[in-house]
Amino acid sequence: MSPSPGNDPKQSPRLSLVVPAFNEEGNLNALYTELTSVLDPVESAWELVFVDDGSSDNTWRVIEELNRSDHRVKGVRFSRNFGHQYALLAGLQVSEGAAVISLDADLQHPPSLIPEMIREWKNGNRIVKTIRLEPARQSFFKKTTSRLYYRIFSYVSGVRIESGMADYRLMDRQVLDDILCFREEGLFLRGLVQWVGYKSSSISYTPAERFSGATKYTLVKMLKFAWHGVSSFSIVPLRIGILFGFFASAISFASVLYAILGKVLAGHVVPGWASSLAIISFLFGILFLFLGILGEYIGRILLEVRDRPRFIVSDRLGISEQLPRNDRKNQIPGT
Ligand code: UDP
Ligand code: MG
Repeated sequence: MSPSPGNDPKQSPRLSLVVPAFNEEGNLNALYTELTSVLDPVESAWELVFVDDGSSDNTWRVIEELNRSDHRVKGVRFSRNFGHQYALLAGLQVSEGAAVISLDADLQHPPSLIPEMIREWKNGNRIVKTIRLEPARQSFFKKTTSRLYYRIFSYVSGVRIESGMADYRLMDRQVLDDILCFREEGLFLRGLVQWVGYKSSSISYTPAERFSGATKYTLVKMLKFAWHGVSSFSIVPLRIGILFGFFASAISFASVLYAILGKVLAGHVVPGWASSLAIISFLFGILFLFLGILGEYIGRILLEVRDRPRFIVSDRLGISEQLPRNDRKNQIPGT
């Protein structure tokens, strides 16, 4: 552990904190104050990397002010809103610490957990996860859908994620370097962190209320995120199509047999215009649903093949010039 205080700009940080922020002007100062009071007693050589995910409020100005008064605060600014996962990724790409902790800007992830996370890391855990205990005030809808989602996700992907596992975690440099090798679109970091393995431990906490502002995760963003999670880890949804095809074929074969035998043996015509219409429209519905799922996977292939950078950085503050300015995936290896 480095003994010197953190106000030497050349000293490389031991610990990096990465905070994605989208319209969080009301939270950053409070978060900074809380982080300094928690961090300074345990580890002076830290850096705090804020990633402004295309905010339309004063978030970037607040980051600039914080950077002016404390150079350990650094900033990356996106040219527009690219989403939480990419903001997180950009912060991870420029952080230099031997361990990196990612957390939300709204103080729902309590900084008071950090000393324990560092302890767990020093005890040999390469990843320290946190598990959010559900607060009583969380809506029934969010609670059940999230639990159901992670159960289905774990089942279809074979990667176990619990419902309270968000993006508040510590990663060791080695794990981080592995994670940064992933070039995929539709990033689902919490899944990748589980997927890479390594010795890990977890800490539970009760989340606080959002300090200021409202949630930045709209329902649409949430659904998109949920779908990216499943489609980047599993092709089971495609296989369900095959199963369903077999099932529907078996039923239709049996009913054709029934109609023919009924006519030949008993001489009666199977009635049921309405029921055939219902069955046909049902099957068409399912057919289009699976066509849509197929289209989604093909779309993902297109996104991957196009190989665009996943985010565009417009400004940086305090970040070493040696570090690539944009998404590292488009760096030529060895440069
Ligand atoms: N966030 C972001 N870009 C987005 C949406 C959210 O960087 O497009 C950040 C946001 O500023 C916060 C974190 O992601 O630091 C988590 O978002 P939020 O607190 O709104 O989500 P919730 O806790 O309600 O699930
Ligand atoms: Mg939040």
